[in-house]
Amino acid sequence: MSVVKVLDGGLGTDLEKAQSIDFLADDPLFSARFLHTDPSAVKDAHKRFLLAGSDAVITSSYQASIDGFMKNCNVSREDAIQLLQLSVDVAKDSIKEVKSQLGDEAKEKYYVAASIGPYGACQHDMSEYTGHYVDNMSEDDLKNWHRERLSILLGRDPDFIAIETMPAQKEAQAIIELLREFPQAKAWVTFTCKDEEHTYHGDKFKEAFEKISKCPQVKSIGINCCHPKVVEPIMKSIRHLLQPDKTFIAYPNANLVLDEATRRMFTEPSSQSLTDYVSNWLSIGGIEWIGGCCLVTPDDITNISKVVNDWNSRNVE
Ligand SMILES: [Zn+2]
Repeated sequence: MSVVKVLDGGLGTDLEKAQSIDFLADDPLFSARFLHTDPSAVKDAHKRFLLAGSDAVITSSYQASIDGFMKNCNVSREDAIQLLQLSVDVAKDSIKEVKSQLGDEAKEKYYVAASIGPYGACQHDMSEYTGHYVDNMSEDDLKNWHRERLSILLGRDPDFIAIETMPAQKEAQAIIELLREFPQAKAWVTFTCKDEEHTYHGDKFKEAFEKISKCPQVKSIGINCCHPKVVEPIMKSIRHLLQPDKTFIAYPNANLVLDEATRRMFTEPSSQSLTDYVSNWLSIGGIEWIGGCCLVTPDDITNISKVVNDWNSRNVE
């Protein structure tokens, strides 16, 4: 069996806590704001997750776009491009610094995954949790919107492109099509799911999985930014389709649910922590990456990595 690896947690929510601010729902740039105001804060947040046990850093480019930087930071197009590039550069710097800090204790390999959030995330209207906009956009519209950011991020040579929080199969497929223009690129694709079968747009996860898994550049497919309780049924629905080179990936939120009326996330009281779910996912098998999304802290990642390391030591030759 292959080694299970640990992802990071909620970068935006960790930055929010470290900076004692509440920008989560109110800043059109989300965590990417800090690439402009204080890139070292982004680097420090990445380092907190790496030191907690994460094998990978997902960049702060989720809600970033050239237009978004130009409009919301009042910068030139050239500067906006540099800010996108910086998202990968600070991720790489965080790894370098953690490696030198840990010395022999450092992991052999840390991964940088450049985040590609959905079109809806950059509209700043929570439409990434409905995906309705895809009904009014052609595949070419979606490809044209995603092309430049993808190309800029790939220019900084990340290990993966994280095509994440996708509400709709159509948008994920458009980005996959785009990947063909960058044959060296490797990616994972994660959908955000409203229930045990469907993405937020209402597409069947299983059908999306089957389609996306045909792309040789996509190494892992799964879910993120959803309630942890939907991971297990989603995983079971496609378990028989998983292959050594087509693995599952899960990084849900910490018991966060979306209030449909206000379009705000709120924390659902629960006695079960994210870590409590992890053993079940491991025993189902076929999962390669486990981490967390919104409100998942470095402490949570430490707990998850203990469970994962223990599983690896018992199951990986
Ligand atoms: Zn999230």
